[in-house]
Amino acid sequence: SPVIEVRDLRKTYGNGDTAVHALRGLDLIVQKGEYIAIMGASGSGKSTLLNILGCLDIATSGQYLLDGIDTGEFDEEQLSLLRNRKIGFVFQSFNLVPRTTALANVELPLVYAGVRRAQRRERALAALELVGLQDRTHHRPNELSGGQQQRVAIARALVTSPAIVLADEPTGNLDTESSREVLGILDRLNASGRTVVLITHEDEVASHAMRTVRVVDGKVAGVLV
Ligand code: ADP
Ligand code: ADP
Repeated sequence: SPVIEVRDLRKTYGNGDTAVHALRGLDLIVQKGEYIAIMGASGSGKSTLLNILGCLDIATSGQYLLDGIDTGEFDEEQLSLLRNRKIGFVFQSFNLVPRTTALANVELPLVYAGVRRAQRRERALAALELVGLQDRTHHRPNELSGGQQQRVAIARALVTSPAIVLADEPTGNLDTESSREVLGILDRLNASGRTVVLITHEDEVASHAMRTVRVVDGKVAGVLV
């Protein structure tokens, strides 16, 4: 069954002479348990799409069903709730809170979700173990390598058991060895049934996905199996 159903999605920034049509009628269906890579030139609309899929932004028109829920009528607060329940984000720049530990960073989404302290700790430790960082739980981000920081970010994305993991160039700031580790973790997540949507401009990275979706000028151009 589809976890993402997008139909005729359009996104325009600004209006009048300065309007930018970032998405121009994009269709996309992602089944539960799929692993897809989104590729496309800079400016083609990939991040705009990911922000809408992640309920960080709303489309100008078109339809987006997330796990069967029509997001069309949702206000910011409802979108924020949906985001916290359904989406895990991994960014190129890690986006960890610098002054606190790996464990506290991973617990953060559970704080938003209102999970009690003891259960937060247990679930955050389990997520850190899943990414192989059980012996780094009390390190701060600046005491960890880039690859380790990205693994903390993945643990944070996972800890709420989201329906979808959205990753925007997750290996963009990593060396080859760390990239391999991070991609290995995403592979394992997907093998255990999680849906993964990954933006990348590297064929090597995209080869980890089951299929590649190419975005050209705000539309899906072709599907490579
Ligand atoms: P990609 O991720 O493929 O590089 P983006 O989705 O970031 O593409 O951008 C698509 C188009 O929308 C570009 O022309 C970009 O300049 C424009 N754009 C993106 N975000 C904004 C914004 N917040 N305001 C205005 N224009 C934007
Ligand atoms: P709001 O004030 O709109 O309710 P949230 O509590 O949803 O905001 O989010 C607080 C911050 O955490 C925001 O900066 C948001 O971008 C970020 N955030 C929200 N959901 C997630 C998530 N699932 N993964 C990572 N960061 C998130």
